[in-house]
Amino acid sequence: MANVIAIDGPSGAGKSSVSRIVAKKLGCLHVDSGALYRIMTWQCLERGVDTHSPEAVAAAAAEIEIECRPEDGRIAYYVDGEAPGERIRTPEINANASFVSAVKEVRDKVTALLRGMTRYGDLVVEGRDITTAVFPDSPARFYLTASAEARAARRRKEQVEKGISTESAEDVKASLVARDKMDSSRKYAPLKKADGVLEIDSTNLTLEQVVEEVMKVVLSPKS
Ligand code: C5P
Repeated sequence: MANVIAIDGPSGAGKSSVSRIVAKKLGCLHVDSGALYRIMTWQCLERGVDTHSPEAVAAAAAEIEIECRPEDGRIAYYVDGEAPGERIRTPEINANASFVSAVKEVRDKVTALLRGMTRYGDLVVEGRDITTAVFPDSPARFYLTASAEARAARRRKEQVEKGISTESAEDVKASLVARDKMDSSRKYAPLKKADGVLEIDSTNLTLEQVVEEVMKVVLSPKS
């Protein structure tokens, strides 16, 4: 069985940047589980599915095919042979993702895809339920968090840099807080800090300091 480093936390806590760097340092594959939920959401919207209807979302989920394959140090995703790119990072996807990800059939499908990725080797997997539901037995589990203000500021900076933001700083924060609330209160695999995970609050830490913390634990003899 491959080794899995599991990193959960709310939106904008820095999971992606940290996971990417840690995966590179260790020669593992980086797995962005949120992108799979975003693809499910994008595909529902493309098909005109009402994302507020769990039945309609469940029916669509059964039809959506996502191809997952290792590529350049990460697991890359394709739908009908095409990479989704920035199409899954829009405010519309942000606003709908938590409705889609709350549906059990969607979660079951994504969880099966994630567990299947261990066949490609050691992984660093980031998300909301990786430490609690997908890989709860991983010996290296982390909960990465930061204040809502710090998280919103990072998300907005990212969006501005990518040229995809049409939202004000306040809107970014409101969208992120609403998403966290839904993700933490849903019935199936809610976001929560599991017993035995190491919590890292990155509000006043640099990216390098967070990476260092994670590496210290991962490289310690008992993990
Ligand atoms: O991490 P990211 O912000 O891209 O995730 C998008 C959405 O996907 C989250 O708001 C959440 O609803 C869902 N998600 C999830 N479980 C995961 C990863 C993401 O429910 N493991």
